[in-house]
Amino acid sequence: MSFNLDKLLRSTIKNLAPYSSARDEFSGEASIYIDANENPFESGVNRYPDPMQIEVKRLISDIKGVPIDNIFLGNGSDEPIDLLFRALCNPGVDNYVAIAPTYGMYRVSADINDIECREVLLDSDYSLNSSAVLEAVDKSSKLIFLCSPNNPTGNSLDRSEIVTILENFSGVVVVDEAYIDFSTDPSFTELLSSYPNLLVLQTLSKAWGLAGIRLGMAFASTDIIGVLNKIKYPYNINVLTQQRAIEALKSHDKVLEWVEYLNRERELLRDKLEALDIVKRVYPSQSNFLLINIENATAIYIKLQERGIIVRDRSRVVLCKDSLRISIGTSEENRALIEALKTL
Ligand SMILES: *Cc1c(COP(=O)(O)O)cnc(C)c1O
Repeated sequence: MSFNLDKLLRSTIKNLAPYSSARDEFSGEASIYIDANENPFESGVNRYPDPMQIEVKRLISDIKGVPIDNIFLGNGSDEPIDLLFRALCNPGVDNYVAIAPTYGMYRVSADINDIECREVLLDSDYSLNSSAVLEAVDKSSKLIFLCSPNNPTGNSLDRSEIVTILENFSGVVVVDEAYIDFSTDPSFTELLSSYPNLLVLQTLSKAWGLAGIRLGMAFASTDIIGVLNKIKYPYNINVLTQQRAIEALKSHDKVLEWVEYLNRERELLRDKLEALDIVKRVYPSQSNFLLINIENATAIYIKLQERGIIVRDRSRVVLCKDSLRISIGTSEENRALIEALKTL
């Protein structure tokens, strides 16, 4: 399947003259900066941030094994998701295909941009059927969103099914790997050089423990990354976020420790949940949460809330009847959850 990004782009984006910031026009070293109307008095944040976040990207590049030019950084993963819709989909005309159930933000971003969603149900065991996804595609389909490990189901999607989609779709295939650090599967970033239509999303919000700084990563061909860079807000990642990300990326041993701890706790919690009569099923998980099937899920959700424990009630989500999604906490928190469930 041939991939032609120029043909895929909205014409307004293809023809756009992007904003050129002071830091775009001069990015070398100088002693006096009087080009950006900044306040000259040092406060640590009186200067605009690096618009291309090169220092952050250099560290990410080393850790992930992806060249800097294949990395885009956004204000959370939300930003590249929104930018992809705006770059590729003409409002009221084009559509995208996504699995269901999955992460809710794709739909919200598409709705804001007036882009039709073509939803394809996962199988009853939450596995991906590539032919069902490909059947939903028509000539106005610009994007396919896959999420692996998937939220809220927790399982990884079958690798060969994703590859089949990559090989048979001429638009952009997004593989959202927000939970990849918890998974035993390799990242799809390995396949970037084989598939020019692949875009992999990752984030510092989960395993990295930095949800508060809002830093999402997109990995893709230089052409796709170039488009995202062209339409992003010029200074989309602020100075404080860049500083904090650099600190964390320089000392990432902690992340491996957290992942080991949380994965171990996940399996302990699974055992304890499975031992409870009210729990009908605990689904396989390659992420830092468990989806469980439980009698009267919404009532349980409310009773837990009365005890100060907040889980996510997913029982109104398609294929998730009577399901709760539980993030893995500290061992004390997980124990408190089990104790509370025992009293219900
Ligand atoms: C949590 C999550 C994200 C992360 O979003 P950020 O905006 O980077 O915090 C992305 N995708 C999925 C599927 C998630 O569950």
